[in-house]
Amino acid sequence: MRIIVQKFGGTSVASPEVRELVLRKVERARDQGFSPVVVVSAMGRQGAPYATDTLIGIARTAYKGIAARELDQIMYCGEMISAVVMAGTLQAAGMEAVMLTGGHAGIITDATFNNARILKCDPTRIISLLKQGKVPVICGFQGMTGDGEFTTLGRGGSDTSASALGASLNAEMVEIYTDVDGIMTADPRIVNDAKILDCISYGEVCQLAHQGAKVIHPRAVEIAMQKNIPLVVKSTFSDAPGTLITNIAKEDTDGAAVIDKVATGVTYLTNIVQIKVHLDETMASDASFKVFKTLADSDISVDLINVHPGQIMFTINADHAERAAAKLKRQGYEIELLENCAKVSVVGGGMREVPGVMASFIEALSCNKIAILQTVDSHTSISVLVPQSDVGAAVKSLHEKFGLST
Ligand code: ADP
Ligand code: ASP
Ligand code: MG
Repeated sequence: MRIIVQKFGGTSVASPEVRELVLRKVERARDQGFSPVVVVSAMGRQGAPYATDTLIGIARTAYKGIAARELDQIMYCGEMISAVVMAGTLQAAGMEAVMLTGGHAGIITDATFNNARILKCDPTRIISLLKQGKVPVICGFQGMTGDGEFTTLGRGGSDTSASALGASLNAEMVEIYTDVDGIMTADPRIVNDAKILDCISYGEVCQLAHQGAKVIHPRAVEIAMQKNIPLVVKSTFSDAPGTLITNIAKEDTDGAAVIDKVATGVTYLTNIVQIKVHLDETMASDASFKVFKTLADSDISVDLINVHPGQIMFTINADHAERAAAKLKRQGYEIELLENCAKVSVVGGGMREVPGVMASFIEALSCNKIAILQTVDSHTSISVLVPQSDVGAAVKSLHEKFGLST
């Protein structure tokens, strides 16, 4: 059996017209000899009646701080509705489509509501349906704990469902259908001349996704990478070939990796607060450790970390800023908060040991008079913290500077 997993995002299942396009993609996979496994997200984006954001809004009208477990019980409903409607669409075309929840499909998670981790994925039921010539239509984003509680896999988590199912089924390929023709050198909503990448490595796309490129969930990439399952990101709305994600970015005719550019893409994260904690010699020797321990104990993750003798500097998501500041002040630390920041990153396997990358990066920003608040780099990425009001200009200027517009 040649299994293909086809995941359709919110905009791909939003109306009867686009669901017909989904039907065609499923039919084509069958015509090519595949047994398709369909995974769907909730219908539409923010504002649509059954979109995940709408459901969250409903729960939060009762109580803004509603508990994570209760929030999951409404969030998973979007995918239920979508999978029923999609199964109906396929049935109307004569296919034997069977709607399955994440739990029915064998996705077992831990009990971290709103951001559950998949512990195992048992493909028995899906394989049995495929052997009978049926098409499973599975709710993305959902899992189930060992004791039967519904969980969700983190925002954008239908990609993770598709990858986990692909890995457990040993699928030939996992296709992620969305509203753009593939992974691009930058978010096309910011950079008009962003280019589609025909291939990219798991490592690079994982970094792009972690640094904010919402086109695919990083966990989906990590799962596919572990089993070396090819992922293809493509559009429901066109026949463009999309972006192939595998273990090498590009091959020449002898199969060797080819890296023709220093940078592969530019991405950004907003809603960030920078925190500076002042330290002085009267403080205990473990003062720095206690700062991070306080944050860890409050489940607040930190990024862009610099530790100096007199000062610690780091960033956190703005949603946690008030809580973090209160905890640190209560411990007696003197702190400074800088709100409305954004992190802009250039990612590329080709920048390893290439001199001058940082110089180009800084030049692009300073030419546009963009303040640099902090930087961090690795072998394959450089990130900078800038005022959020400059995020668009920073992404555009770096995209241009690193030759991604040509
Ligand atoms: P879906 O609902 O299909 O999962 P998403 O909204 O999660 O769709 O992801 C697709 C969107 O990701 C695109 O509409 C695009 O605006 C955005 N995006 C951000 N960065 C990139 C990028 N580097 N390449 C392509 N799309 C990107
Ligand atoms: N519907 C979920 C979300 O909006 C999952 C997904 O779309 O992948 O986060
Ligand atoms: Mg998505």
